[in-house]
Amino acid sequence: MTAGDEVVVALDVGGTGMKCALVRPDGATVHAERHATGAARGAEAVVGTILDVAEGLAGKARADGRTPVACGIAVPGVVDEARGVAVWSANVGFRDVPLRDLARERLGLPTALGHDVRVGGLAEARLGAGRDAGHVLFVAIGTGIAAAHVVDGSAAVGAHGAAGEIGHILVRPDGPPCGCGRPGCLEAVASASAIGRRYAELSGVPATAAEVADRAAAGEPLAGRVWREAVEALADGLATGQALFDVATIVIGGGLAQAGPRLFDPLRTALRERLTFHREPRLVAAALGDEAGCLGAALLALDTLAKESR
Ligand SMILES: [Zn+2]
Repeated sequence: MTAGDEVVVALDVGGTGMKCALVRPDGATVHAERHATGAARGAEAVVGTILDVAEGLAGKARADGRTPVACGIAVPGVVDEARGVAVWSANVGFRDVPLRDLARERLGLPTALGHDVRVGGLAEARLGAGRDAGHVLFVAIGTGIAAAHVVDGSAAVGAHGAAGEIGHILVRPDGPPCGCGRPGCLEAVASASAIGRRYAELSGVPATAAEVADRAAAGEPLAGRVWREAVEALADGLATGQALFDVATIVIGGGLAQAGPRLFDPLRTALRERLTFHREPRLVAAALGDEAGCLGAALLALDTLAKESR
């Protein structure tokens, strides 16, 4: 057997779908598949599907003459990576699920459990837009906003598995209510969902964040105002992030990053205005798209494997 035969079974479990792959140790995906999460069926059924899919992937690898050497699973919510427990996840319904041990038992492979955004950040920092930066802040902006602080290829987990909740930095004390129960959090003002919501509230016309960006670029004053307010709130959040972490590169991912220069040009300017003695980080778009979580789960599994074989 050559090292080229070895693959990692990787799963990125989201609220609606699971991205799954067989990934080589060099980060190349040799096989990919997608499955529905079926979160409405309840946590137990979702866990059953995760284990079945992981086992199926390991079988597929063997059938193709490859050797599955480890398994990595990424899930949303609060994740205790050290104990391998999915502590809490609103959109998948997990409460204290020992997913790592369940998968390890089923597959007979070393397994790692990670947080979706943290492993996404890991992948962007090691294989994507933050490559060679050393200190990276990955910020995913979609229905919510979450971040991963990656230093030398390793993402900070926090004491309780909840590091990186940059979406709940208070940016507008008199702002709209956040899903967490407090008003004025960054994600209540500047997530893709919040931008669409704000525009609909002011105009009476439903719109996605991408449509707001388009209309702002076309010169519509209301869209311009909503977009500008979101960019300013984002810059406030990123300036706080930079004060805390002093990174070389901030990688923006998630749906909002697809706005391209319409987001990055004004955001870069607004961030620069807020920095005094802090060094300005490079601000770039994520490079791996929605595969980042799956690749990150694979990297986490490889890290675990390396630790266990030492
Ligand atoms: Zn909040």
